Amino acid sequence: MLLEVENIRSGYHGLEILHEITLHVDPGEIVAVVGANGAGKSTLLKTIVGETKQFGGAVRYQDKTISFGGSHQVARQGLMLVPEHRALFGTLTVEENLQMGSWARREREGFTEQEIMELFPILDERRAQYAETMSGGQQQMLAIARALMGAPKLLLLDEPSTGLSPKLTWDVFHAVKAIRERGVSVLIVEQNARQVLDLADRAYVLESGSVALDGDAKELAADERVQAAYLGG
Ligand code: ATP
Repeated sequence: MLLEVENIRSGYHGLEILHEITLHVDPGEIVAVVGANGAGKSTLLKTIVGETKQFGGAVRYQDKTISFGGSHQVARQGLMLVPEHRALFGTLTVEENLQMGSWARREREGFTEQEIMELFPILDERRAQYAETMSGGQQQMLAIARALMGAPKLLLLDEPSTGLSPKLTWDVFHAVKAIRERGVSVLIVEQNARQVLDLADRAYVLESGSVALDGDAKELAADERVQAAYLGG
């Protein structure tokens, strides 16, 4: 396993938000976590990278335990989180943002800047544009592209479809497929169950901080309970 989350409990100020979550990502997989607003999806990703305190359980990446406070260290080891708010440097250009992403790369092989531009041609056209003046979809692409500059082995994506039209979401998901074809594994959390279940190999359904269902993504998309709760019946 590339990532193993075992009975993890975590939350804020002593209040438990995630209750004994167990999940894993194998090399080469796209795994989705779907759930409603407030189910704990962002908290899960922040706990995995060591930004949110664990109350119990364990997170292991490449068989090494990740502890609280270690997010820079895990990024250097190729576990990269693209947060929902994208965290771009708004007053820097596209090109400068990409250069900032290479700090975590170390000696790992990964996408070159040229390959990233081929994946997201719009960024190539907009190299000199300030990040804050780009559209939501373009900013999402730039945030993923910047993470790729760090040569990740596992990319954690927090609701990349936020603020995007279904068409732009497909464009971003299409890029995610291409990224996986290059050997990068992906754990993606989404409220947008319909599109992400089509993208993923496996998925987990998160409800009120617990895993309610898990399995093959296509089977989950056909499951009556998932259809009723997340796919509009
Ligand atoms: P969303 O789609 O709204 O981002 P989510 O599934 O990602 O939802 P989280 O953001 O993980 O959910 O939030 C889960 C719960 O944790 C919510 O009740 C939220 O209010 C709470 N929470 C999140 N961040 C904090 C924080 N920094 N301090 C205190 N409580 C928080």
